[in-house]
Amino acid sequence: MRHLLDLSFEEIEAELASWGEPRYRAKQITEWVFRHGATDFEVMTNLPPALRARLAEAFTIAAPEVLAERHADDGATTKALLDLGNGDAVETVRMDYDPDEDGAPDRVTVCISTQVGCAMACRFCATGLQGFTRNLSASEIVTQVLYFSRPSRGEREDTSHAQPDLRASRDRVTNIVFMGMGEPLANYNGTIAAIRWLTRPEGLGLRQRGITVSTVGLVRGIDRLSQEGLQIGLTISLHAPDDELRRNLIPTAGGTTIEELVNAARLYIERCGRRVTFAYALLDHVNDEPEQARALARRIRGIQAHVNLIPYNPTAGPDLRRPSLARVRAFQRELQAAGANATVRIERGVEIAAACGQLRTDVQRATIAEAIPLTVQP
Ligand code: SF4
Repeated sequence: MRHLLDLSFEEIEAELASWGEPRYRAKQITEWVFRHGATDFEVMTNLPPALRARLAEAFTIAAPEVLAERHADDGATTKALLDLGNGDAVETVRMDYDPDEDGAPDRVTVCISTQVGCAMACRFCATGLQGFTRNLSASEIVTQVLYFSRPSRGEREDTSHAQPDLRASRDRVTNIVFMGMGEPLANYNGTIAAIRWLTRPEGLGLRQRGITVSTVGLVRGIDRLSQEGLQIGLTISLHAPDDELRRNLIPTAGGTTIEELVNAARLYIERCGRRVTFAYALLDHVNDEPEQARALARRIRGIQAHVNLIPYNPTAGPDLRRPSLARVRAFQRELQAAGANATVRIERGVEIAAACGQLRTDVQRATIAEAIPLTVQP
């Protein structure tokens, strides 16, 4: 059955109009979904019973089942493996930052997936090693955020009932990063449709600037994204200062050169007025030498960009290692000395293997049947 959130708000309005319903019904329904976390039309008590029944015959608003959930950083990081049916599952991570005296976080970031598996085959990535299965639909992307938006997410048995106002919740989601499993720009339509729901007032109503799309470097996708009229952040994964090493680490990078990516970033900045971040996974004695830092700084000189250094989080994959902290800091210093703006990513959830694809890999290894339900407290 079709999920309601695979339609745009305008399509929902048109569908309801074709049923002879007044225009305001679409807003009533989406308020239940996005403000109250409804996962069943039956709770929508301000709708006539006949309309609720018709909606339930035509659409679903069900939330995905959780297969496994792990907690780290004293509960500030939670990673969930969500069941999409037919053996498909994706990972979503919630990270709470800067709690006040009552423990309410100042900022809540959810890292979401856009594909089951990934075709990009990056050598250092657990998801890349799993191969590609399929794109996620808009609803499958948006419901990952809704999963982590519900304040009482520990009380799963009550998910069919209306929740308090999610937007007013003290631990509401404030930021989204498209950095989970999959390449978001390879699922362009699903990604854009999800961003529309996450940002529009009839949806979750998040600030566009609170959303970041991370790409391994699909130049045409970056160009399209820059023309959507959105104010979202963009992260481009470089991982190497030269094309040969980059192709070795990202075999699917093919003919795309670093120069093309830097030009795409420049255009994105011009069109969207947002700074671009270059992600750089640091691999011990592979791409973390001082001369490589200087070469990287030269490649991005003159562009309003930031380099995010990510010390490699070892996966079950090939023989790549995490550099020592001293090598990480030395690389950062070289970049800064050469005029590049560079930070080291604060690591969250290392003990629950928060790198994309690792929980899914772990659960597959244990077999899903053995692992359900799996909740590991720190
Ligand atoms: S790092 Fe991202 S783009 Fe590369 S294989 Fe993993 S999920 Fe895909």
